[in-house]
Amino acid sequence: MGSKNHDHQLHVVFFPFMAQGHVIPTIHMAKLFASKGTKVTILSTSHFIPFISKSIENNTSQIDIINIKFPAAEVGLPENVNSLHTIDPEMVQKFFQGCGKLAPQLDQILEKHRPNCLVADMFFPWANDVATKFGIPMLLFHGTCYFALCALASVFLHEPHKKISSDSEHFFIPDFPDKIELTASQIPDPLNYDDESESTKLFVTARKVESRCYGVIVNSFYELEPCYAEHYRNVVGRKAWQIGPLFLTERKTSNYDNQHECLKWLNSKKPNSVIYVSFGSMASFNDEQLMEIATGLEASGQQFIWVVKKEKKEGIKDEWLPEGFEERMKEKRLIIRGWAPQVSILQHEAVGGFVTHCGWNSTLESICVGVPMVTWPVAAEQFYNEKLVCQILRIGVEVGAKKWKRQVGDFVKREAITKAVSKIMEGEDAEEMRRRVKSLAEMGRNAIKEGGSSMLDLNALFHDLRSARIAPDSTHHQQNLL
Ligand code: UDP
Repeated sequence: MGSKNHDHQLHVVFFPFMAQGHVIPTIHMAKLFASKGTKVTILSTSHFIPFISKSIENNTSQIDIINIKFPAAEVGLPENVNSLHTIDPEMVQKFFQGCGKLAPQLDQILEKHRPNCLVADMFFPWANDVATKFGIPMLLFHGTCYFALCALASVFLHEPHKKISSDSEHFFIPDFPDKIELTASQIPDPLNYDDESESTKLFVTARKVESRCYGVIVNSFYELEPCYAEHYRNVVGRKAWQIGPLFLTERKTSNYDNQHECLKWLNSKKPNSVIYVSFGSMASFNDEQLMEIATGLEASGQQFIWVVKKEKKEGIKDEWLPEGFEERMKEKRLIIRGWAPQVSILQHEAVGGFVTHCGWNSTLESICVGVPMVTWPVAAEQFYNEKLVCQILRIGVEVGAKKWKRQVGDFVKREAITKAVSKIMEGEDAEEMRRRVKSLAEMGRNAIKEGGSSMLDLNALFHDLRSARIAPDSTHHQQNLL
C-alpha cells in the first residue's frame, strides 16, 4: 500500500479539533501548505464549514473541505452539537467521547484519498492508528509552543506534583533548561487526577502517541525559544518542525475585521495608550469576576477595549457592570460583545498592552505584533505559556492566577488587575518589555520570509514527506524518553 503521490504533488489532510483556537491556525497552515504547491484537504464539522469556506474563498490554490458528522446522539449529546463552543462545560467529557468515535469516518476518507500525510490534532490521538493502517505518516498538531510541549512531557514523565504535600506547594519542572516553579494547582487537571474521565484518558493517550507518530508540527519560530526547540528534539526526543508564526503567513485580514467599529475608535487614540482585554474563545468568567475586572480596569486609569462573551440583552442592565460605569467611562472604554477582530486590534498602533488568558494563538499574536502582556492563565497549557512570557521572554506581568480551571477562570481581585495593567502600560519596566517584545516581533516576521528559519523547516518537512513511507499497520517508533 503506501501513499501514491511520492514524486508528484504532495497531498496533506488536516484534521483540527472542533474549537476556534485549533481551527484558526489549521486554516493558516492549510493555506501556507497550499501556497507551496501542496494539495490540501481540511476535515471539519458543519459548525466550522462556513467559517473555513469563507477563510479560503479567495485562495488561488486548491483546498478541499470534507464535512465530518459528529456522532452527538451516540454519546448522549443534542443532535446539533458538533463544536466545543456550542456546549455547556458539563458536556465536555461527552464531547471528547464523541471525538473518539470519529475513527471510522477518518478511515474511509484516508482509504479513498490516500494522502501523503495526515496532520491530526492532539485531541485525536487514535488517528495515528488509522493513518498507520494505510501507511500514511501522521503529524501531531498541539497548537502550542516548544516550551509548553517540553513542560508537559517533563511533568508527565517525572510527576513532580505527586511528590509534594499540598496543591499550593511549589516544585520545579524536572530536567528542564530553566528553573521554572509551579504548583500542582496550575498544571492541567488530567495530570492531577488518575481518574477514568475521557479527558484524562485522552491526555494520556495523546502523550503516548506524540512519541509514536511521525512527528510534531509546532506553531512557533526557532528564535523565540531556541533552547526549548533543541530540548524538545534532543532531550524529549521528538521529531519536530516549527513553521510559525502561522497567522503572519496570512497576507491580509478580512473586510469584516477591517471595518469593525473598534478600529475607528482606536484611530482616535494615541500610540500605546489602549489596553486590549480578552480571554480567547473558551474561557468565560462569572458576573462577580466581570465586576472585578471592570472595577480594576477603571482604577488603572487606562483606556481599554474589553471583549465580553455575555450577550447584551436589549433594555436590560448588565448586572456585572459597576453603578455609573458606562457614563463615567464613555470616552475611555469600548466593550465588544462576542467576537472581536483580535489580530487587527493588536496590530493597531494605539494598542500598548494585552490582558490575555495565554492561549497560545493569542500569546503568539501579541508577541508578533510587539505588544507586552498581562498574563491571566485559565486552563489547558496556559500556565506554562505564562512562564515563557514572564520568566523566559520577560515581556509580561503575571496577574496572579493560581488555579487551573476548565473554562471558568480562577478569581483574581481588582487590586491585582489594576497593578498589573499599570505595570504593563507605564514606567521604565513597561518600556523595557515593549522594546524586548518588538525585537521578538521582528524575528517572527523574518522567520516566515523566504530563507527564514520557519520556511527552511517547512521545506525540510516537505522534503521528508516526499520520501516518507511507514510500514502499514506497524508502529513507527522514534527514539524518545516516554
Ligand atoms: N479570537 C478572535 N476574536 C475573539 C476571540 C478570539 O479573533 O474575540 C481568536 C484569537 O485571535 C486567536 C484565537 O481566536 O487566534 C483564540 O486562540 P487562543 O489559543 O488564544 O485561545 P483559545 O480560544 O483556544 O482558548
